[in-house]
Amino acid sequence: MTKLRPDDVFRNSIESPTYQSASYYFNDAGHVKAGLHERSAPAGRYGRYSNPTWVEVENRLTELSGAEASLVFASGMAAHTTAFLALLEAGDEVVLPSESYRQVRNVFHHILPKFGVTVHEVSIRDPEEFIENVRSLKGRLKLVHLEMPSSPHMYLIDVARVREALGPEVVITLDSSFSPPPNFYALQWGVDLVLFSATKYLSGHGDIVAGVASGRQDLIDKLRWYRDTTGPIMDGNTAFLLRRSLYTLRLRMERVNAMGLEVARYLESHPRVDRVYYNGLESHPHFKMAQQYLHGYGGVITFELDMSEAETAEVVDRLKVPFMASNFGAPHTLVEQSTFFTYFEYSDEELRSIGVPRGTVRLALGFGNDTQAVIDDLDQALSRAR
Ligand SMILES: *Cc1c(COP(=O)(O)O)cnc(C)c1O
Repeated sequence: MTKLRPDDVFRNSIESPTYQSASYYFNDAGHVKAGLHERSAPAGRYGRYSNPTWVEVENRLTELSGAEASLVFASGMAAHTTAFLALLEAGDEVVLPSESYRQVRNVFHHILPKFGVTVHEVSIRDPEEFIENVRSLKGRLKLVHLEMPSSPHMYLIDVARVREALGPEVVITLDSSFSPPPNFYALQWGVDLVLFSATKYLSGHGDIVAGVASGRQDLIDKLRWYRDTTGPIMDGNTAFLLRRSLYTLRLRMERVNAMGLEVARYLESHPRVDRVYYNGLESHPHFKMAQQYLHGYGGVITFELDMSEAETAEVVDRLKVPFMASNFGAPHTLVEQSTFFTYFEYSDEELRSIGVPRGTVRLALGFGNDTQAVIDDLDQALSRAR
């Protein structure tokens, strides 16, 4: 096979090509020296370390979050796990909200302790109590991990006050998968590293699994060494899909923010609905914080029906518009009965302690559905309830 070089074709496309390459060539020894030894000229080396399509999407993500630098990963969990492995060492103590994503809690409780990290789990339900707990641990902490809004109750955290309570030394990471820009800009509030499951709103089409970390350059540099070494990387085509999705992020978020408010208000007015958890409703316990921190409230709504688990299942089964599935941030609307999905292994006792009755339903609105069609569908399913 002749040694063809891609530089031989024209290069003036507006959109960059998608790179799929396991390695990168150097022209001569001088190029190796500049590109690899001195890093004075940008050059790729090997597919686990670099890919121009990643770099382009990382630059866009850096701009989006107002960060110093960003990295893309194979999944949201890969971004989280790499961050904690890179930033923590034996003897460190960390805080984790009780309401955070289940697999993130598993990393904290079942992986990090193997390497000598001590984990303090603290509930965010009462914002004052959370700050007090964090403050009382301050001198011992290396890192505090946050997530907001939390699922399923959409609890928020007074991030600025957490930073104030901790001082500048403690690293704050925040999982912003439910609240990406333009809804929330975590780094503006004293967060050092914002983490995303890009599987959700950032990619927004339900067709890729991906993760992102954005924040301080010195922290990103540490994460990069771990990503280079352990390999939880995104491939070029996935990076292309993420880059393309970012063009419509604002449009999609504005759309689901509007849908969310309308559907949440409908649900709140329905006589068979006991409670609605949505940050845009004044009835949400953290509504005041929502006004301070969020520019939009997204498409995920949790509500409680005044029904048994079986009756709730009948209502959910009657819905025709949503898929029964537990994701969010996709074009399709998805619905899950919480005690059949995330909490199916929980006892009544455990459900009571986390505040999830058996009539709890989580609805994740998709930008591809008509708002009125979703409301009409909920209406027919609820009107036929016993
Ligand atoms: C989905 C999700 C994750 C994990 O991301 P993956 O892309 O599925 O690995 C982490 N945190 C939150 C809040 C999520 O919703």
